[in-house]
Amino acid sequence: KTGTVGSAPWVERDREVVWHGMTPYPASLNPMVVSRGEGPYITDEDGNRYLDAMSGLWCVNLGYSERALAEAAFEQMVQMPYYPLSHTHKPAIELGEKLNTWLGGRYRVFYSNSGSEANEAAFKIARQFHAQNGEPQRWKIISRYRAYHGSTMGALAATGQFQRKYKYEPLAPGFVHVPPPDCYRCPFGKQPGACRVECADMYEQVINWEIPETVAAVIIEPVITGGGMIVPPPEYLQRVREVCDRTGVLMIVDEVICGFGRSGKPFGFQNFGVQPDIVTMAKGITSGYLPLSATAVRAELFDVFRDTEEYAHFRHVNTFGGNPVACALAVRTLELMEERNLVERAAVLGARLRERLSVLAAHPNVGDLRHFGFLAGIELVEDKTTKTPASAAFVGQVIARCKQQGVLIGKNGDTVRNLNNVLTLCPPFVVTDEELDFIAQTVIEAISSAR
Ligand code: PLP
Repeated sequence: KTGTVGSAPWVERDREVVWHGMTPYPASLNPMVVSRGEGPYITDEDGNRYLDAMSGLWCVNLGYSERALAEAAFEQMVQMPYYPLSHTHKPAIELGEKLNTWLGGRYRVFYSNSGSEANEAAFKIARQFHAQNGEPQRWKIISRYRAYHGSTMGALAATGQFQRKYKYEPLAPGFVHVPPPDCYRCPFGKQPGACRVECADMYEQVINWEIPETVAAVIIEPVITGGGMIVPPPEYLQRVREVCDRTGVLMIVDEVICGFGRSGKPFGFQNFGVQPDIVTMAKGITSGYLPLSATAVRAELFDVFRDTEEYAHFRHVNTFGGNPVACALAVRTLELMEERNLVERAAVLGARLRERLSVLAAHPNVGDLRHFGFLAGIELVEDKTTKTPASAAFVGQVIARCKQQGVLIGKNGDTVRNLNNVLTLCPPFVVTDEELDFIAQTVIEAISSAR
């Protein structure tokens, strides 16, 4: 029914004025005109209702109609809608305290509006930290091929998906990439469980090649979400932490997607027994209801920014970062998650999804199933032996079939070769068991019916 009465005039108007950066041009000509949200469902202007198994763009963890969030925002909006953090306000303080509890350590929190900006701030903080410690030549940032860290010049430079980058280069200099911990397509030709986790060794190798005294930080997601749901071997993050400790390099963990319960723990890194120096977060911090992001920096690192020397502080103006309405909404988001035990619920839902999808392991077009908390990636192949990726047409059919059945799913993968052959699932934490089973069943049937 899409494109009929209700949405048609809006689609026409959209075509004249709205620039869609996430959708290739021809596909962007027929957008859904999304007009309502309720729990895990969205409804378009034509009255079609969909179960949103991607939580918007990996963020609407509490679902679409949480009045308590709207009320928290409204109350703050009428009381004090805006003041810059050149001074302070209660929501920023309360949120900083709450984040410290969730992070399980002492962190100083810098606020921005998006994941990209949180990462930009992290890079600048890492460089300035070293400069103030007498090592101004430490400026390089190590990240991974296939990782996604944002769209601004620095965050895109850290991103390891060159299809997204090459038309905008040169980006920021000083960003160096290492191979991803892709056990299904191991860059080192090893079999899972029969390797020395060479992908973790690469950090030390590359840092040594670059000269450790020139490297400021590594940035790493607990699992690579946007580049094909790549889940590392269990010891990987710890090994990277050890390399950082040995070489004096800071560890930035990008929790933009994995944070706030998505991994089944408050933060993704907590699954791997490491404590990062800097944690960046966005998306789920407000359940997507308002823009907000945070760069949390270990308290000991912040100490060098207290220097009495002039301009030792972190000089980074951000007009809207830490907006009181967004912070109040974030505090409420985290309170609701605590009151409703949603982190634990996400872990339970993740285990159920894993179990429901496990039948796909035997499917001839499913090369690999990957899970992390309440996230799933299904790598589609033409041929299990050769691991030839499924065609764009095949993947497109699966996604279209799911949509026809009322379930919205995502896809991504190795954008270097434009191979978006990994289906992604990231449902809101408010889905019922039955809704989750419906998502899983719909995906299974869609894969089975595609040709
Ligand atoms: N980091 C990761 C892991 C992301 O997935 C994203 C966005 O999808 C970002 C950073 C950038 O966040 P934003 O789009 O809010 O700038």
